[in-house]
Amino acid sequence: MTTEQRPVISHFINGQHVDSDSGRKQAVFNPATGAPVADVVLGSAAEVNAAVAAASAAAPAWADTAPLKRARVLSKFKELLEKNHDALAAAITREHGKVFSDAKGEVTRGLEIVEFACGIPQLLKTQFSDNIGGGIDNWQLRQPLGVTAGITPFNFPVMVPLWMAPMAIACGNSFVLKPSERDPTPSMMMAELFKKAGLPDGVFNVVQGDKLAVDTLLHHPDVKAISFVGSTPIAEYIYTEGSKRKGAYPLRVQALGGAKNHLVVMPDANLDQAVDALIGAAYGSAGERCMAISVAVAVGNVADKLIDALVPRVKALKIRNGMEPDAEMGPVVTAAHKSKIESYIEAGVQAGASLIVDGRNVSVAGHEQGFFLGGTLFDHVTPAMSIHQDEIFGPVLCVVRVPDMAAAIALINAHEYGNGVALFTSDGNTAREFSRRIEVGMVGVNVPIPVPMAWHSFGGWKRSLFGDTHIYGEEGVRFYTRYKSIMQRWPESIDKGAEFTMPVAK
Ligand code: NAD
Repeated sequence: MTTEQRPVISHFINGQHVDSDSGRKQAVFNPATGAPVADVVLGSAAEVNAAVAAASAAAPAWADTAPLKRARVLSKFKELLEKNHDALAAAITREHGKVFSDAKGEVTRGLEIVEFACGIPQLLKTQFSDNIGGGIDNWQLRQPLGVTAGITPFNFPVMVPLWMAPMAIACGNSFVLKPSERDPTPSMMMAELFKKAGLPDGVFNVVQGDKLAVDTLLHHPDVKAISFVGSTPIAEYIYTEGSKRKGAYPLRVQALGGAKNHLVVMPDANLDQAVDALIGAAYGSAGERCMAISVAVAVGNVADKLIDALVPRVKALKIRNGMEPDAEMGPVVTAAHKSKIESYIEAGVQAGASLIVDGRNVSVAGHEQGFFLGGTLFDHVTPAMSIHQDEIFGPVLCVVRVPDMAAAIALINAHEYGNGVALFTSDGNTAREFSRRIEVGMVGVNVPIPVPMAWHSFGGWKRSLFGDTHIYGEEGVRFYTRYKSIMQRWPESIDKGAEFTMPVAK
């Protein structure tokens, strides 16, 4: 497809598709074919400002809309997401590369947040104290902030925006989404579904762009909160810059960053189950999940048996265009990302790790230009190697051998990331001790990818999350609302005369 023939993906502002005159755009690729399928505009500051202005204009009326009515719009949106489940998943596969069944799972996990947000009248209910003394009652409100914004990564172009927007909107805020420029189509599909669901114009807006769009949102005085999900350097930048905001309302920021997730295999684990878990969690979505397992920690004498069991499974992975029904692993997102992963594999070899299965030079018939890599397996990886320290974000699994559980915990706790971790064991006390001592935000016991459900919140520790609140669930309600306490009494209860002492209950 030539540039002239390719569709141009632009903004959705105030309920309408809006063309860009920024003069900047970039190609969006189908990673399975390696061919560009669209261009996405890279918005100007003026275009981002227009989206914020639309969101500001829509915010007061939406904040005054009864929570039950807001919930009904979200309920309709959920119905439309269900009807368009396959179309959304196909758009994800086309621009991201993950296999279609996995893309459908992503949409389902996003839908669950919308289902949770439909309970907003109950979630916004607060506590009331009758007669704290002197005829005074005391209660709280949770009020919306106004304009909120979300900046999202390429690896979950439906689910991660749905971690944010439904919660923000249910709480009575308006929202500006800046999706990843690598797979922007699903954001536009969701904008249309929100409109179809009856969401007033301006409450949900999408701006396409890069750093310029992000910085414009970050420094716009009308934006009251930013949710970011992406790599750690950008998360830290957003958090640090956002924290500098002066004025009556400092910017609220929750910034979720990168990860390096370990799966510990104890000698008493069911080895078949641990191997199944590792294959799915390391190579599913080509390792491009923030909760992917990229390190297997083999405890005691389990390592040789584990490697023997893993090798044939890694070699047998069905690597295909994600739309093919039996595909288990698709391509990685871009040619540049593929090269970066290959250079990490080379660095592992140079550092002395044993490359047991080499996923470089894989070719998929009929898709020779696609960004495919095979599954890669390293043994004898040590903590100081870059393949253990850095997030590779590709289908590369490292095995680290440790003598006992204490060493496994020390290894994981010394790592700068603390997003997810899993332990495979059949001993209850081992599981209990591990869960209590590990410095990681999300723990799975015999569960390889412990992404919390919509009504439990998601978030890592250490350099996997900057900010105070985790995302979605009740933490999401707290993030997107401001807490206010009200005390009230009526003239009949008021004694005559000024009081100069600290008020106390009478
Ligand atoms: P990224 O950090 O490159 O991009 C994320 C967003 O930031 C995009 O919208 C992008 O346009 C924007 N951005 C990129 N460079 C920027 C810059 N210099 N200044 C301002 N904004 C910028 O991340 P990605 O490659 O799209 O996604 C993969 C990363 O996201 C991985 O590190 C993964 O672990 C992480 N991730 C984390 C979670 C989590 O919950 N912790 C979930 C999903 C993905």
